[in-house]
Amino acid sequence: METIARGVNERVRGDRIVRAWFAAHRGLFKTPAARQAKGLEGRVFANVHRTGKHIVCELAAAPGNDSRKKTALEPDAQWIVHLGMTGRLLVTTPDAPVVAHTHARLELESGKEVRFVDPRRFGRLDFRELSGAEAFSAAGMEPLAIGAQEFATLFRGRKLPVKAALLNQRLLSGVGNIYADESLFHAGIRPRRSAGRLTKTELERLRVALKMVLEQAIRLGGSSVSDYVDAEGMRGFFQLEHCVYLRTGLPCKRCKTPIRRILLAGRGTHFCPKCQE
Ligand SMILES: [Zn+2]
Repeated sequence: METIARGVNERVRGDRIVRAWFAAHRGLFKTPAARQAKGLEGRVFANVHRTGKHIVCELAAAPGNDSRKKTALEPDAQWIVHLGMTGRLLVTTPDAPVVAHTHARLELESGKEVRFVDPRRFGRLDFRELSGAEAFSAAGMEPLAIGAQEFATLFRGRKLPVKAALLNQRLLSGVGNIYADESLFHAGIRPRRSAGRLTKTELERLRVALKMVLEQAIRLGGSSVSDYVDAEGMRGFFQLEHCVYLRTGLPCKRCKTPIRRILLAGRGTHFCPKCQE
């Protein structure tokens, strides 16, 4: 990742975006494509770097003819590229063949072209104006790509309930309330358990369960993967048969014990008191 961001930075720094084109797959865009295009066109790449699993392109207004401004490209917006599992950010030229699954093309003043290619569409493109609070700082790990060792490290020494840890976007990106409840059920872990006190076996069960739940959500949501990055995880998820989520008082599908609901970190939290320890 680091190599990629640096390579792009070397090639595009100081270059102005003349035109932005996006493909029609809506699931890829955390900011609507039209808004991204409008924000990108005319801006200059001030710097490209990596933050967690994201490549962040710092953008500045074009310096114009004022020589004093030329020296300081003060970023006022960001184009954030989450590569997902198969995404690539390429710097090429407009005449280079456009490969399949090219979802974004930025024409630069120098004649270069930046392209985002992602066959499996787990990637994300986001555009933000830098008005303080909007600045991108999340460094959460990608839950579909995280390995056992990394997952265990995330939770080590943390005293907060495991449910709260799952929802913490700085630890894992994009785990919504439904996914947290459902994966804890499949892992057999009580939501209130202290994250740092889970055993290695439990952590691995949780990682696998989370991955399974997210993959199922993606399958049911069709081509739109944005479902699992929704804060609430609502969209496209209704088809999924929940085991615990919003099933308060109904019999557990595994053991018939009534599902219980508690409030944890301000969120409705559902679990089976028998299956989850
Ligand atoms: Zn049960």
